[in-house]
Amino acid sequence: MWAWLYPPACALCGRLGEPAICPACEETFRPAVPWVILPEDPMSVDACFLYQERAAQAVKRLKYERASLLRDPMARMMAARHFITDEEMVVPVPIHWTRRFERGFNQSEWLASQMPQAARALRRIRATRPQVGLNRAARQRNIIGAFAASPLVKGRRVVLVDDVITSGSTVLACREALRQAGAAEVRAIAFCSDQLAANSNA
Ligand SMILES: [Zn+2]
Repeated sequence: MWAWLYPPACALCGRLGEPAICPACEETFRPAVPWVILPEDPMSVDACFLYQERAAQAVKRLKYERASLLRDPMARMMAARHFITDEEMVVPVPIHWTRRFERGFNQSEWLASQMPQAARALRRIRATRPQVGLNRAARQRNIIGAFAASPLVKGRRVVLVDDVITSGSTVLACREALRQAGAAEVRAIAFCSDQLAANSNA
């Protein structure tokens, strides 16, 4: 609908006549490297980009400004960067239904929308305060026990999808719920990783 009212423009810098993510903005996206969280019980985590500049702006806009124009280009970047095998099951990190009601969508589902074998196999059973601004220990306390997994995941290799991974406490809490439901293996992928912030909170 917006496309009828306004000419196409970059959803990040506003430059007219450009796609939703223009080449100049995309050029500032810095690739992230895969890493492992919680070395004593390792979980592999991989993100497309570092949570900086325009890539960070894309994540925030997608979530807080309902920039649905960003949905497809960001989902395509996710699908291009993260290879999913036939044996894997893609599970977006859920948001609590009250937040879903307010926001109208789950940004992680949007990011997984171009991936195969995506399923709603996790539920957020407890609303939590936003993780922003909490240190690692507080993030863990905030999120523990917030999720429940469907029996669908039993024996499956699960790929969790989130928008940003910082300390990893959200995906670790998801892994806990998935393990309780019998998941065989869990890894996590994201659009952005905020590795610097995670380290400074450690
Ligand atoms: Zn731009």
